[in-house]
Amino acid sequence: MKKTALITGASGGIGSAAARALARDGFRLALCYNSDEAGIKRLAKELNKSTDAFTAKVDVSNRAQVDSAFEQAAEEFGGISVLVNCAGISQQKLFTDITEADFDRMMAVTVKGTFNTCQAALPFMINRKRGKIINISSMWGVAGASCEVHYSAAKAAVIGLTKALARELAPSNIQVNCIAPGVIDTKMNSCFSEAELEALKNEVPMGRFGSPEEVAALISYLASEKSDYVTAQVIGIDGGFI
Ligand code: NAD
Repeated sequence: MKKTALITGASGGIGSAAARALARDGFRLALCYNSDEAGIKRLAKELNKSTDAFTAKVDVSNRAQVDSAFEQAAEEFGGISVLVNCAGISQQKLFTDITEADFDRMMAVTVKGTFNTCQAALPFMINRKRGKIINISSMWGVAGASCEVHYSAAKAAVIGLTKALARELAPSNIQVNCIAPGVIDTKMNSCFSEAELEALKNEVPMGRFGSPEEVAALISYLASEKSDYVTAQVIGIDGGFI
């Protein structure tokens, strides 16, 4: 089977950069998106010049939609060898203002979404005794962020899930790792004002935000055979922030 990857949140900043990087690496791609249909169609058209890529609308918190995307990948590619979980939402609120619905949505997308995709991917990987799962957490899942308690808690849960699953799957030769980005220049930070972004930039020892392409380079490494002995790790990419 040619190398195949399923990417969630593929219409996003990091997800689309990951798709371009994995296409260059020779992967066939299942591009899962939840919004920006026009954007994902443009990306698929671009990538189909050099590889095979299909798109599937998937809300990762919905198990039936996740399963259906993997079934499509099985039909079109014969399975999936790499899963990249880029889907995510953020929200800035004082802890006392976070509603039960806010909390439940954050957990559903971030934690249950990761659970859903990992569980759906495993049958393809276990049979072949080969596979890679790359989860995107956050430096805030490691350090905790003020006014982002539910986001930080959800991203910390992704780290726990990654480490535990990596140990369970190590005998099956499936590597599970987590990336913990710092501030990356994507739409996710469009909620901040120019002044807030400048203040945030000043907190980064390297004095700049990361680019989606820099995160994608790490995803490319973790998806490759070069990282076959790397598992259960949380790899920071944050310009020295944490
Ligand atoms: P982004 O907003 O550009 O992309 C997020 C993607 O997730 C979007 O394509 C969105 O449609 C998708 N998404 C949202 N809800 C979904 C759902 N229920 N089901 C499926 N997809 C859904 O942001 P990004 O920066 O590319 O974020 C990618 C990942 O990186 C996220 O998990 C985010 O938390 C994480 N991250 C980002 C930063 C940053 O500073 N940008 C820092 C640390 C971690």
